[in-house]
Amino acid sequence: MQIQVLGSSSFIPTIKGSWSSFFINLDNGDKILVDAGTRRLLGLRKDILAVSHIFITHRHPDHIMFLGALLRRMKRNKRKKILTIFCPVNAFYHIQGFIRFYNPSGVPEFVKFKTYTPNDPEILVKLSKSKTEIWAAAACHTTMAAGFGIIQGDKKVVIVPDTRPNCPTILALAKNARAFFHDCTFPTAVHTFALSKGHSSPEGAGIDATKAGVQTLVLIHTSYVRALDRQTLVTGAAGHFNGEILVATDNSTFKF
Ligand SMILES: [Zn+2]
Ligand SMILES: [Zn+2]
Repeated sequence: MQIQVLGSSSFIPTIKGSWSSFFINLDNGDKILVDAGTRRLLGLRKDILAVSHIFITHRHPDHIMFLGALLRRMKRNKRKKILTIFCPVNAFYHIQGFIRFYNPSGVPEFVKFKTYTPNDPEILVKLSKSKTEIWAAAACHTTMAAGFGIIQGDKKVVIVPDTRPNCPTILALAKNARAFFHDCTFPTAVHTFALSKGHSSPEGAGIDATKAGVQTLVLIHTSYVRALDRQTLVTGAAGHFNGEILVATDNSTFKF
């Protein structure tokens, strides 16, 4: 599967780093989106129109801001195929507001919402074409939030943009994953402050990667720490994790 990080930043965007969104191109055809926080997703053109499912982690604006603009684009392209949007139950009305901002006539008719309450890892849906299971588990954040596991065959990739480290449900979801895309909002120097805000540092991400036994750690949701160079982030995580460590930037693409 191929994962394009459309937006790699935390809630404080920079010129180069925009809000959270991940475009996932699965082997055998299914295309899905995790979060819709960046205008960069509008640049995908044909690919974005083919997305069948959108999985929203939580209701904070840096994860849903451009969902309405995306639906407007799909409507203008006369989309008929059902688009299923999974969102945490407490995000539903919040998301409606963001959608109506761009779509005054209301939520387009091709959209079907499915709400869920993240808890222990559980399957949300099985995508038939690519034989892929999408799982959700509760993240430890300041509002109801999820991380997602994308399981295709014996390969599992887990994406958790917003969580504090050592979150039992997320560690269970990420167990033995091929790749773990992990919150890295704050620098290690303020590791304790990061915990209080429901976020992680490179150190926290490294500790989680080791606990979960993953092969590759990808640091995401990082703009606050972008003032630090990439090597500092990698070094911070490497003090706690021996596997491969990568740092995402906007439009980074990873294949697993
Ligand atoms: Zn966020
Ligand atoms: Zn958040």
